[in-house]
Amino acid sequence: MDIAQLGDRVLAGERRALARAITLVESSRADHRAQAAQLILDLSRKNDAQAIRIGLSGTPGVGKSTFIESFGMMLTAQGLRVAVLAVDPSSTRSGGSILGDKTRMERLSRDPNAFIRPSPSQSHLGGVARRTREAVALCEAAGFDVVLIETVGVGQSETVVAEMSDLFILLLAPAGGDELQGVKRGIMEMADIILVNKADGDLKSAAMRTCADYAGALRLLRKRPQDPEGYPRAMTVSALEENGLDKAWEDMQALVTWRREMGHFAGRRAEQAQYWFGEEVRHGLLAQLEREPLKGMMQALGARVAKGEVTPTIAADEIMALLGRS
Ligand code: GDP
Repeated sequence: MDIAQLGDRVLAGERRALARAITLVESSRADHRAQAAQLILDLSRKNDAQAIRIGLSGTPGVGKSTFIESFGMMLTAQGLRVAVLAVDPSSTRSGGSILGDKTRMERLSRDPNAFIRPSPSQSHLGGVARRTREAVALCEAAGFDVVLIETVGVGQSETVVAEMSDLFILLLAPAGGDELQGVKRGIMEMADIILVNKADGDLKSAAMRTCADYAGALRLLRKRPQDPEGYPRAMTVSALEENGLDKAWEDMQALVTWRREMGHFAGRRAEQAQYWFGEEVRHGLLAQLEREPLKGMMQALGARVAKGEVTPTIAADEIMALLGRS
């Protein structure tokens, strides 16, 4: 495959080239990995267009696909090009819908200004993260104005998505009672905007109460230097009735504009690049432990540790010494 040519076609915004490039970055074959790395490097040198990268998290059923479809259609109607990617932490896709699945967003998937790509199937979140991060860079190079990265609210996947997004949006459903829906403090702290969905019909008043609860909880959080007055904030939307989506987009843009002017936008991307560098190194080190010769040595040493022939610390030092040499 001619990587330079593929890169040029991606830069020209050709969707088929983009899809092919993403397939390349998703491949785990060593020769593909090398080509993908070259492609990403070439594009990072040639491309200076910046998309707004929006991470979107929410538990199954809160309305993520409905929201992405309505929100995406609103943006494309404004002439913007929208890409939708996903980080699915589940290694087996049994049960539940596939994130970023086109059948969940039928109208948007037919829109020529939209590009939807399901989550790469990988057994490790680390692998999914790297591939999605590279896919984000490809979409950006292909001239997309907005890249939405969808994930479900479980485990580490939210952190992964927040670390590749300029804005992190938490989508919630109206709560039954008046207690907060067990959203972990750490997740709340990552959110730039909380959207309480389904603010329509019978659910409207519950949605407004939930929104007020979260607005109160957000006010108690420490003010972050990257936020102007009034952020992070909570608001209600109805993805189904397409209410509040324009206001949500206005607020997202206002936040991005402010962060750009204050230098926080570029600063955050720089921090993220450092974060991913560290993650790649950690990932690489762990991968070495899964490969020979270290794998066999770990097993042999483990057996000796079990028999009490060597202490865990000394055995670990032996492995660390080998890592240092490899
Ligand atoms: P996901 O699993 O987070 O992608 O959620 P879906 O988008 O599939 O939505 C789950 C259910 O909630 C579906 O039955 C939707 O029709 C419904 N739903 C989504 N958004 C809204 C909304 O704004 N209002 C109401 N009343 N229902 C909604």
